Amino acid sequence: NSLGHCHPRLVEALAAQAGALWHTSNLFRIPTSEQLAKKLTELCFADRAFFCNSGAEAVECGFKIMRRYHHTNRDTHRKSTNGGTHRTTKRDTHRKRIVGLSDSFHGRTLATIAAAANSAHCEGFLAGDAGFDQAEFGNIDALAATISEETAGVILEPVQGEGGIRPVNSDYLRQVRQLCDEHGILLMFDEVQCGVGRTGTFYAHQQLGAEPDILATAKGLGGGFPVGACLAREAVAAPMSVGSHGSTFGGNPLAMSVANAVIDEINTPGFLEQVRANGAHLMQSLRDLQAANPDVIAGISGLGLMIGVFLNVDAGRFIAQLREEGLLVVKGGNNSIRLLPALNVSRDEIDKALAHFARALKKMESK
Ligand code: PLP
Repeated sequence: NSLGHCHPRLVEALAAQAGALWHTSNLFRIPTSEQLAKKLTELCFADRAFFCNSGAEAVECGFKIMRRYHHTNRDTHRKSTNGGTHRTTKRDTHRKRIVGLSDSFHGRTLATIAAAANSAHCEGFLAGDAGFDQAEFGNIDALAATISEETAGVILEPVQGEGGIRPVNSDYLRQVRQLCDEHGILLMFDEVQCGVGRTGTFYAHQQLGAEPDILATAKGLGGGFPVGACLAREAVAAPMSVGSHGSTFGGNPLAMSVANAVIDEINTPGFLEQVRANGAHLMQSLRDLQAANPDVIAGISGLGLMIGVFLNVDAGRFIAQLREEGLLVVKGGNNSIRLLPALNVSRDEIDKALAHFARALKKMESK
């Protein structure tokens, strides 16, 4: 719910579209889908957009693009998307493997659980590694060691979400980009959780110094309405010819109307500045609470309004205490909680949440 519940602009867009046309095959042109594709591609590195209904589908589409790109990538195509040259020695059609990072989350389909390789999510579901390798988060040498002549690309979250909110370091991200260019492999960012204004820029990577070839976006894009998109550069997306991928409801008029309204709202002058200012205020206030309660809070991390609080006490117990005080938060990995308020949250609402937080801390300290 990137704009809270029942935002008037979204309600109006959805109601107007509901009275006009719910669904048509995307064999036909859907003007709102073309408008949304234009807006998204103007806002970032991408030239093309494929619409779907969820984050996992957006990531899956990106995996297919990675493999298809190398499958079609003959000698004439042997140029990195950033202008460098490939060092490929084997035929690119062998490039099917994809590298993911530790503590990642990319969804719950077979390929997305294989990419994240979280044993709790994979147990009983996978046969073998399903074509995915893993490297340690933030460790460029570990990533370099994982890349082989069968690697098609790398996927990472510029700010990890489910694993505990953790932004990647800019230097690391630039090194990953460089590594991918040197090997002629593709870089995909999963901005399902950290995208669409969440971190104070439209996409998180836009403040982290490196661009991907492919990007998965969803969640906040629909402001609570199901929608996802996979964005890509032209050279990378070109092999996805008509019929190579599809979705019945992807790009449907209802989702497109809502997503257009979300983007228009987020692009209102001053909106993202407000996200950054409120994020900085929330982060600093939490750091102050950490300094006063080091027995409970181990660390604070995040970007914009995507904030993780790492705990020295059991996260489940603290979440229960927060709920008793009237504050709902969600758990993250590595014994953390995640704070992901609506992007249009007011300063007063933040301060109210902080007061609940402070009360819960006091009660934890006294237990
Ligand atoms: N990628 C990331 C980073 C996510 O946080 C999520 C959902 O939490 C997904 C992918 C999957 O999105 P969905 O649940 O819409 O399939």
